[in-house]
Amino acid sequence: MTVEPFPITFSPAQLAVDLLAKIANDPTSPYQALALNALEAWRNSLATPEQIALVATSDELEIDDAGACVSEGNDGFFIQTWTWVECDMSEEPTCSECGEAMFITEEGIAHHRGDGSPNTIDHDADADHVAISEGKPT
Ligand SMILES: [Zn+2]
Repeated sequence: MTVEPFPITFSPAQLAVDLLAKIANDPTSPYQALALNALEAWRNSLATPEQIALVATSDELEIDDAGACVSEGNDGFFIQTWTWVECDMSEEPTCSECGEAMFITEEGIAHHRGDGSPNTIDHDADADHVAISEGKPT
């Protein structure tokens, strides 16, 4: 008997499923039975397409096309979803004093960034106080 892995969108989970299937299919492994049980428990926790369709109406929650896990309760079930969280991933540091964009020259001098092209200096803000990085990459 060969156990087939099942698809999971989250790639680290897919690696785990694939590894479990590999161990479950290895008759020389002392963990074969445990891997088989773990793989089957996981497979049995996957949401059905009907369950996914019931919760697919939210704009903010994204549900895997394959491999969304479900946890059933008395009056319903929980479907594993992805939630998008917006955040600033820019590399540009900001000043801890005023929150404005800043940069540090190759000579190590901190300046507030002007509104023009990169590495233009906001001399008014620099005159007011020294730009201090909030700790983002500089
Ligand atoms: Zn500042």
